[in-house]
Amino acid sequence: MLLSRMKSGDPEIFATVQGEGTSAGVPSVFVRLAECNLRCGWCDTKYTWDWSTYDRAAETVELGIDAIVERVLEVSGEGVRNAVFTGGEPLLQQDELVLLAARLRERGFRVEVETNGTVVPTEAFAACVDQWNVSPKLASSGNAERARHRPAALQWFAARPNAHLKFVMTSDADVAEVSELVDALGVPRARVLLSPEGVDATTLAERSRWLADRCRTHGYRLGTRLHVFLWGSERGR
Ligand code: SF4
Repeated sequence: MLLSRMKSGDPEIFATVQGEGTSAGVPSVFVRLAECNLRCGWCDTKYTWDWSTYDRAAETVELGIDAIVERVLEVSGEGVRNAVFTGGEPLLQQDELVLLAARLRERGFRVEVETNGTVVPTEAFAACVDQWNVSPKLASSGNAERARHRPAALQWFAARPNAHLKFVMTSDADVAEVSELVDALGVPRARVLLSPEGVDATTLAERSRWLADRCRTHGYRLGTRLHVFLWGSERGR
């Protein structure tokens, strides 16, 4: 599998607390996959896919399932039994992730997957995943609609109670776009999180206050980016 690589040269597999979504605060081990099928202007992990800016050979590493499992166990210790596959877009490598998820579940791990909601999971992979953290991209992401809006994938996630939709918000126009989309999909608003865009604590705090008002008005859940409040944009946290 192709993983992101940290400055140290190690694969980007690290234990921390989940910073986003409905599991925010849960001790978790992250496995960051390389490559993405979208190109969000504000992406904070461009080093996983933007090969016009970053050196692909320096930023990625190929690793087999055994080596990934070994590293996950090594960094998790006794305290972490929640695994999060993130990216990039993890579902681009879902055939290999089936094997990884199955191996980790045998070891007592719960498995979460973070995805941009453009790829339909296979039934084999879906059977190994406890929670989907789906982050569909809005017009403000800068992606063409035909790339970011894949109805079949969105409808698949909308139909799963273990899938939460999380939107990164920058403006009131985003709030209106979210309402149109989730109402069309028929997703209960209790399964929808609005998270502030921002890579520093000051920006996040300001936008969280603005978003809290919008959540109260529209019935959405306020999401956070705990890792940014704790560590800023530091990598591997
Ligand atoms: S989908 Fe996620 S990883 Fe891909 S470009 Fe957008 S923010 Fe970055």
